[in-house]
Amino acid sequence: MISKFDFIVIGGGSGGIASARRAAEYGAKVLIVESGPLGGTCVNVGCVPKKVMWLTAQINETLALAKDYGWQIQGQGFNWSTIQQSRDGYISRLNKIYQTNLEKSGVTLVRGVARFRAKNCIEVNGDPYQAGHILIATGGQPVVPDIAGANLGITSNGFFQLKAQPKRVLVIGAGYIATELAGLLHGLNSEVSMLLRKDRLLRSFDHDIHELVMQQMQNSGINIMTNIALDSLLKHSDGRLGYTDSDGNKSGGFDCIIWAIGRYPNIAHLNLEVTGVKTNDRGQIDTDEFQNTSASGIYAVGDVTPGAQLTPVAIAAGRKLSRRLFNHEPEARLDYNNIPTVIFSHPPAGTIGLSEVDAKKQYGDARIKIYKSQFINMRYAVSEHKSLTMVKLVAAGASEKIVGCHIVGDSADEMIQGFAVAIKMGATKQDFDNTVAVHPTAAEELVTLR
Ligand code: FAD
Ligand code: NDP
Repeated sequence: MISKFDFIVIGGGSGGIASARRAAEYGAKVLIVESGPLGGTCVNVGCVPKKVMWLTAQINETLALAKDYGWQIQGQGFNWSTIQQSRDGYISRLNKIYQTNLEKSGVTLVRGVARFRAKNCIEVNGDPYQAGHILIATGGQPVVPDIAGANLGITSNGFFQLKAQPKRVLVIGAGYIATELAGLLHGLNSEVSMLLRKDRLLRSFDHDIHELVMQQMQNSGINIMTNIALDSLLKHSDGRLGYTDSDGNKSGGFDCIIWAIGRYPNIAHLNLEVTGVKTNDRGQIDTDEFQNTSASGIYAVGDVTPGAQLTPVAIAAGRKLSRRLFNHEPEARLDYNNIPTVIFSHPPAGTIGLSEVDAKKQYGDARIKIYKSQFINMRYAVSEHKSLTMVKLVAAGASEKIVGCHIVGDSADEMIQGFAVAIKMGATKQDFDNTVAVHPTAAEELVTLR
């Protein structure tokens, strides 16, 4: 017998859970299907364990400053398995909280892999389920390239399973994950090299972000190798790992190699062929601005779509969809403009809106004014160690509307959220100038730029 629902959600990650619970709150009869642990990528192998490890590295950095502040601290060493166990315990608690919250919301949870039988019908473990509205929120997986020896490397998923700290690490990639994992491993005193196929990190961000993050990572001792065309990964007779490039050069001595070169969408098991849902050349599910796919009654949110691959984006898109479908809000949709984001590098970078280059392309060079300051955070005033902070505003037109805000430095991760509200509301440079500074902070530089 077919079980009937108003709304079926495939994928119990950030977007799926948010959408399912919101729909149930509006009175819909909701089924959610999850093949792995609840919470998806973010909770289990993404934002959450990453942030715990980033904080672990931050503590080590603070300890390094302690002497300059007068503390006599005896280094007692770092125990990887202690933080791994507490981190995993925290994640287990979150998994349970997600399950309880689904139960409280009245959402039915089925464990297993969902597959379409027809446009309005899926099956899980051989059992059919039908609904007029079906959401695909199946997320993505790390890419491992098709080169010789590729499986000698691990991905971010494997990183979170490591039982011991890797001491000599090669991180391949140039985006968020490569920058974050390289930074936190270095912060925990691993010897870290990065291999980039092009000339810089974080290429898609404002040039002041990628220049300063890359420079500070290099200054801290991370070996960043650029413009390398990788040919293969290999294992030496001593068990150490290495690589060869396309010119035949060999390099080695690593005990861990991490692939961080992007993610691909989870669509393989869905049997989309029977639905008419169209995908792009990267396998991502195309949607319109309302998250409608090319098949009526089927929607997609989060990492399985081409939008920004960020947890709050998946959540917001999922909730807006439920408001539209089940709360009589026909215009509800996520505005994908001005999405703030943070790279948890060392130091972190926070950013929203247009880069300087993109703003000039969009508005014309003459209509863009840049306000920028670079300084040493007071945290380092009494220390021999110095770390730069950069704040930058991109202002457009005669009103000097702020169309981009970019920060690198300590606490950039916490600063950007509040400024994002102002920018989303259309703040101008004058609005920033009219705001009284909070002193002494690094954030005050953003309201005192000249
Ligand atoms: P997911 O959270 O991946 O959920 C999809 C779920 O669907 C999974 O649980 C999967 O098991 C399930 N599934 C797949 N196929 C099926 C099927 N056929 N049947 C049933 N279930 C299925 N974002 C941030 O905003 N901030 C960060 O700091 C951050 N850090 C990150 C760090 C790392 C290392 C990684 C990898 C990602 C990070 N992200 C971060 C990105 C963030 O995790 C994702 O954008 C977010 O999880 C996407 O949510 P989603 O709901 O689209 O997919
Ligand atoms: P990204 O898209 O951020 O970066 C991957 C980069 O790797 C590419 O930009 C590319 O850089 C490089 N690359 C691609 N292919 C190869 C290759 N074959 N060899 C060498 N380098 C290659 O992907 P990530 O995997 O880092 O992260 C996936 C997504 O997860 C992110 O886009 C982000 O949305 C999300 N995420 C968010 C975080 C946060 O919010 N803090 C943290 C972690 C992930 P280039 O073209 O310059 O060579």
